Amino acid sequence: MTGSPIHSELRINSYGSYLRRRFSCRVSKVNVDGGFTCPNRDGSRGTGGCIYCDNSSFSPKETVAVIPIEEQMAAGMAYHRTRLASEKFIVYFQKFTNTYAPVEKLSDLYRRALSHPDVVGISVGTRPDSIDDDAVALLTELARDRYVCVELGLQSIDDAILTGINRGHTFAEYLSTVDRLAGRGIDICTHLIYGFPGEKRSGFVKGARLISSLPVTAVKLHQLHAVEGTKLARMYRDGSYLPISLAEYVGAACDFLEELSPKVSIQRLYGSAPLSIRVAPNWNLKNNQMWYAVVNELKRRGSWQGCRVGCEMRAVNG
Ligand code: SF4
Repeated sequence: MTGSPIHSELRINSYGSYLRRRFSCRVSKVNVDGGFTCPNRDGSRGTGGCIYCDNSSFSPKETVAVIPIEEQMAAGMAYHRTRLASEKFIVYFQKFTNTYAPVEKLSDLYRRALSHPDVVGISVGTRPDSIDDDAVALLTELARDRYVCVELGLQSIDDAILTGINRGHTFAEYLSTVDRLAGRGIDICTHLIYGFPGEKRSGFVKGARLISSLPVTAVKLHQLHAVEGTKLARMYRDGSYLPISLAEYVGAACDFLEELSPKVSIQRLYGSAPLSIRVAPNWNLKNNQMWYAVVNELKRRGSWQGCRVGCEMRAVNG
């Protein structure tokens, strides 16, 4: 193992710390539903969507498209002000594919979000195949004086897995989109999942080195999990999807982090769904419990994010 021990107990370059360094106050993300759809569900890239997709499983119930985003923002900001004493906010366009619309609609929604005095920026969740040149130009313009993050759902660097989960795009499309977004003042966050049928831990961990070599600023990880109404839930019930164990996920997340550049901040290490629609696995953890499970495993190993790429957390946490 290379590199020297970190000077704090953090062991992970968390996105929360990154935001505090960047904005000098507590910043929270507030989810909104901009009323988008997804090209992997409406037929333009595919139908049926990804095998694990049920958008209701990852959107709080107050984010409903018919509610103006100003109202959604107000509800989310009030919640985070009370719960976390947050002072500033990033409006997170989360549900479905939030660049998949004419640029006029994108411009209207993004600018309305940014017009609130307590909003420091926007985060836009999308697919690698769904950001046209007009959208890139708009995001570039907004990023000149505001925080703009594009969250790219990649999920796996393995094209065979992408095909198997009906993702509808390739790893090459992801690389091309990262290239088009790079050097424009836009943060790039990559979403990855571990635990696909047939996936090997070594293949998942390889993604950390690849991501580290790209101009990617943040990562979100979570375990594959099945919710009601999805193809994955049916696969679980017919035995063709066997969820990974909690120990396997924690071990793989630590292996991944050890190989990931400490410059990349970590936005998430866990995915959860409401109990009423959760099928498997059923770990019953809260986000912070998973975070500490991973940190404790890194501690037990005497390791930290980036320790296998010869970098020091001191550089990002100091
Ligand atoms: S790209 Fe996202 S919204 Fe579209 S089907 Fe897949 S998980 Fe669902």
